[in-house]
Amino acid sequence: VTVNSFIIHTKAGLYCQPGDFYLDPKRRVPCAVISHAHSDHAVPGSAEIFCTSATRSFMLERFTGRAHSEFNLVEFRKSFSIRNVKITFYPAGHMLGSAQVLMEYGGEKYLYTGDFKIQHDDSCEPFEFVPCDHLITETTFANPSYIHPDPKAAIDSILSENQNVVIGAYAIGKAQRITQLLTYHSPESEVYIHPDLVKYHRIYGDHGFGLGNWQEYRRMKFKSGTRGFYIIPPSHFTRYSRDKNVLKVFATGWKRSYYSCDRVLPVSDHADWNDLISLIKNTGAKRVYTVHGKGDELKNYYEGGDIEVKILC
Ligand SMILES: [Zn+2]
Repeated sequence: VTVNSFIIHTKAGLYCQPGDFYLDPKRRVPCAVISHAHSDHAVPGSAEIFCTSATRSFMLERFTGRAHSEFNLVEFRKSFSIRNVKITFYPAGHMLGSAQVLMEYGGEKYLYTGDFKIQHDDSCEPFEFVPCDHLITETTFANPSYIHPDPKAAIDSILSENQNVVIGAYAIGKAQRITQLLTYHSPESEVYIHPDLVKYHRIYGDHGFGLGNWQEYRRMKFKSGTRGFYIIPPSHFTRYSRDKNVLKVFATGWKRSYYSCDRVLPVSDHADWNDLISLIKNTGAKRVYTVHGKGDELKNYYEGGDIEVKILC
């Protein structure tokens, strides 16, 4: 399966033939267009990288000391070209700096969403619908049983706790969104951040997305029982499994957490089923290609209609 021979799926990732570049390559390549800073989309070492300024900040923080790349910073809605392919970034609403990549070539519009979400999120640039002919979308939650709840309700459920709450959250994106939700909905709450997260929280602030009143985590405060919310990356979350009198939640869109916890905190940074249907409708795409996840349900849903869904990888 190829996207109109314009994009082909290779071992290194999605390759745009006329532009001779890769979209979110899985290994170092000569030229990479990178949608966002998560490790399954951004790997170090490509010679030339096109990405947003925030994505570069995260990459430099994560990959310090590794092979140098030449970064070309891309601003949202400002077009540029690689060879004869015209490219424009639009916000994907997934995390700070996350971009959808619109590619125009031979009179056709190709949109790669990267990871995206439509749900409201004040910790990053809001998602925009972009008209296209060919849509390449993630399908992480492409199942009708996945309808993500309002994150406010999820946050309310832990704000009503009288005990300490330890919140496991992925270090880039999720941890900052949870921080913003807590400090916005409950400014009087004590919100503590694990030291490993501070550098990423600062990048948010540097790019104009202040996350409210948070403090670096103090283990002593936790031990002394000061009521608060402790945001911890997955690598440290399991250490809290034996702490008593503390509620342990893990922030995820999945119904169950991979990490042991009392319950999940249902906050997702990916589109749910309704968002995917809305995306397809609002972009007007007649050809849809799925990546990252299972596209079968989406394919079945549109079977026999005038929208063709193909599973790309
Ligand atoms: Zn992501």
